[in-house]
Order: sequence, then structure tokens, then C-alpha cells
Amino acid sequence: MDLGIKGKRALVCAGSKGLGRGCAEALAEAGVDLVLNARGAEALEATAAEIRAKHGVDVVTVAADITSDEGRAAVLAAADGVDILVTNAGGPPPGLWSDWDRDDFIAALDANMLTPIALMQAVLPGMIDKGWGRIVNITSGSVKAPIPQLGLSNSARAGLTGFVAGTARQVAGKGVTINNMLPGIHATDRAISLDTGVSKAQGISLDEAKTQREATIPAGRYGTAEEFGAMCAFLCSEKAGFVVGQNILLDGGAVNATL
Ligand code: NAP
Repeated sequence: MDLGIKGKRALVCAGSKGLGRGCAEALAEAGVDLVLNARGAEALEATAAEIRAKHGVDVVTVAADITSDEGRAAVLAAADGVDILVTNAGGPPPGLWSDWDRDDFIAALDANMLTPIALMQAVLPGMIDKGWGRIVNITSGSVKAPIPQLGLSNSARAGLTGFVAGTARQVAGKGVTINNMLPGIHATDRAISLDTGVSKAQGISLDEAKTQREATIPAGRYGTAEEFGAMCAFLCSEKAGFVVGQNILLDGGAVNATL
């Protein structure tokens, strides 16, 4: 399928590894030039070089913390006039409901709610002027089914979801769509680090921890960054102009719900 976005420009945040990289790769495969961001310059430059070599698109890199004011300003300066925005950042740490004080909540809200909102507010005027734009926010399956130990994430991502629900309907008539992608368990560094935590806590091997978790997923396996990226590229495509304000769950059937 021709996604109809060859020659467009996308900002992909937190995209040197994992799900963000999956999105960047799939957009590049569709012929989209990229502004690619992550904090660590080494992995970022390596990913950018691989994407350039594989897909022949232009990739500008900005090594910066997307959750900081300065980092965001640097990224947005390089991404002036983008047609596509993919927001992403690391998730907040796990814990118990009684662990967190106001500062912990402010940090989580900053990273996983206010950062994507600030990015959307920065790029929306340009997209509206052009009469075309696509925004995809990487959130979490925890928006549909809470993950008890991720209370900070559950809270911040629910706030972002509420903002998107209303805003997507305000900009849809201008040719701009905003949707969220909700990952369940995917085989990324984050999944390995969560499995490592379980293996240490339960005194089992990393493989056993993974097998245990795979058994909770009807598909019987973790998702891949490639699968995730393909859905992102479709949502950013010409074909997806009628998909507005949706929360697309990619979890291998793990959330047991009819709707
Ligand atoms: P990952 O494999 O650990 O990759 C994270 C990427 O984001 C890396 O490129 C990292 O590079 C970059 N990054 C992290 N914090 C950043 C920041 N503050 N500014 C700029 N770049 C940043 O993680 P992932 O599994 O792809 O997860 C992506 C998001 O999806 C996270 O919010 C996670 O909570 C959520 N999620 C993931 C899963 C899953 O199973 N994988 C499930 C549900 C939700 P640097 O470290 O160099 O900055």
C-alpha cells in the first residue's frame, strides 16, 4: 500500500531505540524525512546512519532530553514546519501508591503529559496553516487497563488521553489528526529491564520471567517494534485521515475486554 506520505517530514521523539525507533523506521520506509531525537548521542547517531543507509531519507538528529524546556526548544528548532509528530519519552518508575509525593507526580506529569502537550501546541499552528498534519502519541496499555505498580504512568497518561480526546476534535476539520497508540508488552530494552526486575525479585532466570509474562498474552509472545511502527506509519498516512482521537491498543489481546 502506498501510504501517500513520501517527501513529508516527521519529528520522532525518543526514537533511537525501541518503539520510537520502530515508528521512525516505518515512516522512513514510507519515504518520510526525519528529525530524530533521543538523549544519548551515540545510539542516536548509529540509528540515524542505519535509517539513512536503508531508506535513503534525510535524518537530522537532536540529542536532547525531550522532557526539559531546553531540550524541547532545541528539538523544535530543528523540526520547524514538520508534517508529522510522534511523541514519546521514557516511562515513570514503578512503586506503591503511598511512595509518591507532589514532586514525583509533577515529574511524571511533565514527562508523560505536559511534554507531549507542549510539543503538540508547538507544531499544531503550522499543520493547521498547511491544512494537513498527523500526530501520534505513544502512551500505554495502562490507559485502558491500569498497571497497579505504575501509578505515576497511569495518572499522567490518563491526563494526556483526556487532552487528546478534546483537541483531536478541535483540529480534525483543519486536516490534522491526533491519535494515541497504546503498547502492551513489546520486546524492547524496557521489557528486558522489567523482566530483569522480576527475575531478581522471584529468583528465576530472565527466560523464565519472560515465559511467565508471555503466558499472560493471548498471542503468546511480546510485540515487536516493527509491528508497532507499521501501525504508526498507517496512522500518519494519507489513508488515515478519518481516524480521529482514537486510542489504538497493540497488546496481543492482553486486555480482556469486549470493546
Ligand atoms: P526503550 O526501548 O527503553 O527506548 C526508549 C527510547 O526513548 C530510547 O531511544 C531512549 O534513548 C529514548 N528516551 C528515553 N527518555 C528520553 C527523554 N527524556 N528524551 C529523549 N529521549 C528519551 O523504551 P520503549 O519500550 O520503546 O518504550 C517507549 C515508551 O512506551 C515508554 O514511555 C514506555 O513506558 C512505553 N511503553 C512501553 C511498553 C513496552 O512493552 N515496551 C509497554 C507500555 C508502554 P535515550 O535513553 O538515549 O534518551
